Amino acid sequence: MYTAMNRSCARWSRVLFLHNSRLSVGKQFPFETRSLASPPPPTNLSVGINKRPTDISEDGKTAVPSSASIGRRDPLDLSFDNAEAAFRSKTTLQILRAYLVFTLCSSNYLVENNMKLMKLGKKVLGKRLFKSLMKATFYGQFVAGENQQDIMPTIQRMRSFGVKSILDYSAEEDISAEEAAEKEMASCVSTTVAPDPAAISVDPAANSPEAVKRYHAHREFADRRQNVNSARTYFYLNEAQCEKNVDIFLRCIEAVSGTTQSTGFAAIKMTALGRPQLLLQLSEVIARSRRYFTEVTGLSADNNILQQNASPAIFEKRFEKADILTDNVAVQKWLQQMTYDQKGLIHLFSWSGLIDANILLNDLFKVPNLQTGRMEPLITALSPEEEEMACNMLRRLNTIFSAARDLDVRVMVDAEQSYFQPAISRLTMELMRKYNKEKAIVFNTYQCYLKETYNNVVLDLEQANRQNFYFGAKLVRGAYMEQERARALALGYEDPVNPTYEATTAMYEKTLLECLMRIKEMKTRTNERRIGVMVASHNEDTVRFALRKMEELGISAQDKVICFGQLLGMCDQISFPLGQSGYSVYKYVPYGPVDEVLPYLSRRAQENRGILTKIKKEKRLLVTELKRRLVKGQLFTTPKGEYVPI
Ligand SMILES: Cc1cc2nc3c(=O)[nH]c(=O)nc-3n(C[C@H](O)[C@H](O)[C@H](O)COP(=O)(O)OP(=O)(O)OC[C@H]3O[C@@H](n4cnc5c(N)ncnc54)[C@H](O)[C@@H]3O)c2cc1C
Repeated sequence: MYTAMNRSCARWSRVLFLHNSRLSVGKQFPFETRSLASPPPPTNLSVGINKRPTDISEDGKTAVPSSASIGRRDPLDLSFDNAEAAFRSKTTLQILRAYLVFTLCSSNYLVENNMKLMKLGKKVLGKRLFKSLMKATFYGQFVAGENQQDIMPTIQRMRSFGVKSILDYSAEEDISAEEAAEKEMASCVSTTVAPDPAAISVDPAANSPEAVKRYHAHREFADRRQNVNSARTYFYLNEAQCEKNVDIFLRCIEAVSGTTQSTGFAAIKMTALGRPQLLLQLSEVIARSRRYFTEVTGLSADNNILQQNASPAIFEKRFEKADILTDNVAVQKWLQQMTYDQKGLIHLFSWSGLIDANILLNDLFKVPNLQTGRMEPLITALSPEEEEMACNMLRRLNTIFSAARDLDVRVMVDAEQSYFQPAISRLTMELMRKYNKEKAIVFNTYQCYLKETYNNVVLDLEQANRQNFYFGAKLVRGAYMEQERARALALGYEDPVNPTYEATTAMYEKTLLECLMRIKEMKTRTNERRIGVMVASHNEDTVRFALRKMEELGISAQDKVICFGQLLGMCDQISFPLGQSGYSVYKYVPYGPVDEVLPYLSRRAQENRGILTKIKKEKRLLVTELKRRLVKGQLFTTPKGEYVPI
């Protein structure tokens, strides 16, 4: 099987090399700032060589020409076995460090006790020595630096080898599980004691044990850091802390603008920007409004509201039949405020009003009761204080994205737990509608381990198409699987995650293919590039799938509509060869003070233990590259600028 795969990889490798070399002729080298907005002007390759960006060496000072920066495309080995291409950007010391770190990650004892050991290390060695030790090992491998200045050499060096950056400020409080649970429970419970009884009459299903459990906090799962891969977790403290988080994200956006000349992205998490209870309530409203849609129209909301050409007229007819329309000004007004176009309904509510006009949540999420015609809330009533907090959260989002638009920096909104995610995704879509009119600034994230992801992506693609804005998406498998499954089982609601790994992969491929087909269709029809997708995965098969489908559909690397994403310090054998062969590739680049990224490093160590086969391959390639340098006498020399000294 392995041989068959290698053969097929080799065939693909040849095809892609030919494809890329053909395409590179007459095109500018593709590392341009705002690829999704406007097609790259066709220029002669020689112009690209003359105007190549200054590439900075590890010390951040010396210019180092690389194959990427001089506009040369390397052939892509689709078995991702090319050690030289994978580690070309690395000094010999960095290769040794990577080997050491991956070896340490294979030790059960070290991984299980890593947090304790790091704390002990700090005590015994003292702060300075501990910091140096971390920088020589885990921190140096997975984190780019402490601040904006520190990370510059890493970013510029990666870029000179064809890999761009997504900056992710990863500092977090090291709080105990008890403290985390306390904070979570305090911030996820409404101050309005009982649910509004009016809501019960509109949507009895909303008060079923399943619905109540899914979108409400539970102490057992209140520490959201449990069993999570890599992501940083925010716990709500107060509104002032959220303002501080806004400052952090703004500084991150400035850093992208300054250090990457806007070629990079900033990554943010919505749970940092407001009381999580609001995200829970909004997620619940979305579930309730889908049920209301089905109840009134008889159509399945799961089957995509937008695709069924459900028009407001269906609602009008149903209300007439129920005798609640005539002379009922409130119901008529509600019908007028729906979001729709000539094709039909887009949303039951004016989400744009929420983002743009500070409409109160209590006022927005009301629907006509089919029996009485009275407008009744779909949302559990919010207190004036909670309404103000909701307003603050939306203001913060607008502050971040208008700064991003002004500085021309793209921002990825990370996906989080499934009980927050409907709200996060919906708000992100409205931010896209507002800020992605001219180019893609806002990117959403879709977790393909969720059963509903394909439908959601189709819905969002439709909305973007019909409301005429750029659609930006990052596709991931999902980082919270164990937590999601355990919560669903313990609380007795349906597991939101696909039943098997194969089902998740099938969902990933189907969703990606849907995006690619629409990209192709748009390219053929209007030659526009208004859909951009990041294939964020460490899975080589997934990357190969994306490349093969791109090739089949005639979507080239130079179209700059598909890019790839991996984490810093992981799977360089995927990122760097892709970058050096002309594809758009990004690394998630965590940064922050050593002390404050220890929880992140701890989770990295744990995740690495879970993917030992991948680590084994990476270690094998590191050894291959070391041997190659040794044999060629290149361990400590810089032959014609290809390598930097140790
Ligand atoms: C650049 C980047 C950005 C990311 N951003 C986010 C983000 O915003 N939000 C987020 O949640 N995650 C994010 N992730 C993490 C991502 O979701 C995955 O956890 C991680 O990348 C592993 O998936 P894979 O495709 O790389 O590897 P693989 O090893 O192929 O896949 C592992 C993943 O498959 C899924 N899986 C495993 N077993 C099963 C099973 N039995 N049934 C169903 N599914 C299963 C799980 O999602 C698991 O994490 C990001 C990852 C990268 C590289």
